[in-house]
Amino acid sequence: MLGDLHVEILIIGGGPAGLAAAVAAKNAGVQDILIVERDRMLGGILNQCIHNGFGLHTFREELTGPEYAARFIARVKELEIPYLLNTMVMSVGSDRTVTLMGRETGVKKIKADAVILAMGCRERPRGALSIPGYRPAGIYTAGTAQRLMNIEGYSIGKRAVILGSGDIGLIMARRLTLEGAEVLAVAELMPYSGGLKRNIVQCLNDYGIPLLLSHTVVDIRGKERVSGVTIAEVDEKRNPIPGTEQDYECDTLLLSCGLLPENELTRMTNASLSTVTGGAVVNDRLQTDIPGIFACGNVLHVHDLVDYVSEEAALAGENAAAYVKGAGAASGDPEQIRIETEGGVRYTVPQQIDIRNMRDEITLRFRVADVYKDKTIAVYKGEEKLYSRRTRVLAPGEMEQVKLTREKLGDFAPGEVLKITLE
Ligand SMILES: Cc1cc2nc3c(=O)[nH]c(=O)nc-3n(C[C@H](O)[C@H](O)[C@H](O)COP(=O)(O)OP(=O)(O)OC[C@H]3O[C@@H](n4cnc5c(N)ncnc54)[C@H](O)[C@@H]3O)c2cc1C
Repeated sequence: MLGDLHVEILIIGGGPAGLAAAVAAKNAGVQDILIVERDRMLGGILNQCIHNGFGLHTFREELTGPEYAARFIARVKELEIPYLLNTMVMSVGSDRTVTLMGRETGVKKIKADAVILAMGCRERPRGALSIPGYRPAGIYTAGTAQRLMNIEGYSIGKRAVILGSGDIGLIMARRLTLEGAEVLAVAELMPYSGGLKRNIVQCLNDYGIPLLLSHTVVDIRGKERVSGVTIAEVDEKRNPIPGTEQDYECDTLLLSCGLLPENELTRMTNASLSTVTGGAVVNDRLQTDIPGIFACGNVLHVHDLVDYVSEEAALAGENAAAYVKGAGAASGDPEQIRIETEGGVRYTVPQQIDIRNMRDEITLRFRVADVYKDKTIAVYKGEEKLYSRRTRVLAPGEMEQVKLTREKLGDFAPGEVLKITLE
């Protein structure tokens, strides 16, 4: 497989993004594809997500994470797309030379015509850093706890407090409860949850677990093992309010303080990164500003639902296939339309549109900065309103999307921008 050390499309990461990109590229007619995965199995983070709720959009069924992944793994196998397991990509150059290392391959350099970055994300340990107290056993990020319980089969504690209300923290609150542990509270620094509404209802409310908004952990007690934490309310500047401290006796503290796209390799390619998403800046073809380098899934921006990861990654696969056959500009092309955000829209992906090569319809995905009620999502080209949609509630934990057609966008003058806002 690695004989000639050249492939048409090399995909880094065998999670849902990498798998969907590979299937789409193969269906688009590219034969020479290689998926490189550092873990011992394909499927990415979904292997540890044993709860249901996956695939409602893609398959119109409620699947568990491993079931969802299994459907794509089966497609990869049916299509005989080669993949390497236990193999880590160490570097990627802007010339698309990929260095990888694995037990069976040793260190190898492979030149690819196109590279698809699908490395996913990791958890932010930020919440831990500013908490005074010892660092005893019993403090985990929520994803580590999920892996220990669901893959390795360990019980991690009996009485837990969770800091951060991201989806993984919410899901772990329910998981711990079902395993017989007591979850005393989920404390959230912000005045709103970072997770999906459905997860707050199904994972906290259904089990009577309190969600303490505008609260944080201000002390951790215990030397060998966590013996308790102190939670305090915070003011608008997120500083703890003296006198509001409450002690909780517990042996476990889970941190669920957000996810960070894993972009070390992206940086090596010299692709521009967005300071807001933490992922590459891409055009509607999901191509970075380095020709032939595409990005999709959580490495591009953190998604709320895996269905959107699969949809986006399939597009990256199709576009990488088109690229190796000679079509498509990189995102730095000056003739591309830039998308600007304002009025509470934090970012969009893509950030640019390759207007000359765009499809009949594109999807702009974005998140908002705060909880907003009764707002209209509007898209402008200069003074002209191209799109508007009324919404009841918008929240930072939920990804939003707008679909725009080629026909609606019309012609653009060089340097003209598209603006998306809330009003
Ligand atoms: C802990 C956690 C729990 C989640 N729970 C849910 C949930 O309950 N419901 C839901 O809808 N979504 C959930 N998500 C989100 C969902 O799983 C993601 O949207 C989806 O898995 C993202 O797919 P991906 O392929 O982009 O990333 P991943 O699934 O993370 O896959 C990335 C893959 O790339 C591999 N990789 C990374 N770097 C390299 C390298 N250098 N070389 C080789 N391979 C590499 C990794 O090993 C991994 O297999 C969760 C995410 C996390 C992190």
